[in-house]
Amino acid sequence: MDKDPFSDSPEEFSAPGLNPLFRPAYLRRLLASAGFFPQKSRGQNFLIDRNRGEAIVRAAGLDRGDAVLEIGPGPGALTRELCLRAGRVAAVERDRVLARILREETRDFTNLEIVEEDFLAVDLPELIRRLRSAAEPNARLKVVANLPYSVSGPILARLLESGAGFTRMVLTLQKEVGERIVSPPGGKRYGRLSVLARIYSRPEIIAAVSRNSFFPRPRVDSVVVRLEMIPVPELPALDLVFLREVIRAAFGKRRKMLKNALAGDRELGYSEPRIQAACSGAGIDPRSRPEELSAGDYIRLATALAGLERMGSIQIS
Ligand code: SAM
Repeated sequence: MDKDPFSDSPEEFSAPGLNPLFRPAYLRRLLASAGFFPQKSRGQNFLIDRNRGEAIVRAAGLDRGDAVLEIGPGPGALTRELCLRAGRVAAVERDRVLARILREETRDFTNLEIVEEDFLAVDLPELIRRLRSAAEPNARLKVVANLPYSVSGPILARLLESGAGFTRMVLTLQKEVGERIVSPPGGKRYGRLSVLARIYSRPEIIAAVSRNSFFPRPRVDSVVVRLEMIPVPELPALDLVFLREVIRAAFGKRRKMLKNALAGDRELGYSEPRIQAACSGAGIDPRSRPEELSAGDYIRLATALAGLERMGSIQIS
């Protein structure tokens, strides 16, 4: 964890009082008057800590040359801060009542598109196309989100694999998920999400957020993870769907040796000799455990398995 971004001076942010959504009393009244009751199953825990909220936005390093995708804006506390700083914002909220509140709370901003949909079902390429075309030419594409707990893993996987060309993501998630994302190979929490995150980005936990910073208060604490995305051309020419299949098969049997985990996977459909050969071509011990392999190892392994020529040195650790 490097410098705590929450300790910076708040001068550059909106003066206290301008964003009432961080005030618990205002938020409660707003939700109650709309007849809204937060649902745990939808991860509806709203940020009520102004300093944390502003610092999350600050970690994105925004200016008018940025186009931001926000997932799960809720009533709009972060959304308002994003609209104040970025050139263009698209916010995807699946809850109908919250989307209505959000529209009202952000009515003064003309640089915002609210999309009332489930992010996991939204036509992402089309949404990104609209966001880009409404933003400045060559705008940097960023993601800022306080993610709903229950679906933060699938949402992150979708973002990482989207090929949308995001340059940075600043995500607030359950502490345990954040630790999985940044876990190094061999670590207790190292798994599919850690490998995916490292294939597409340099992930880092930049701050802790206590459960007391949310209304209603969840049972667990959160962290803010910043992911600096790796430009796509740095990735080797490899079928990314196939790569994901190899990672899925390996971690499906994480206690087995790699060769047995992969050979036993019907969907992958490779024989043990082929897997042994691919491992030796990729310089990987077939007896190692799936959690001992780095993101670079998985890329080399999938490349060798797919029979591709490109097996040169890959700079991902
Ligand atoms: N951004 C607000 C904040 O920081 O206070 C709300 C964050 S809250 C943790 C998560 C939000 O995601 C809720 O508003 C919830 O309705 C929304 N949400 C849950 N599942 C979603 C999905 N699949 N697609 C889009 N939004 C979703």
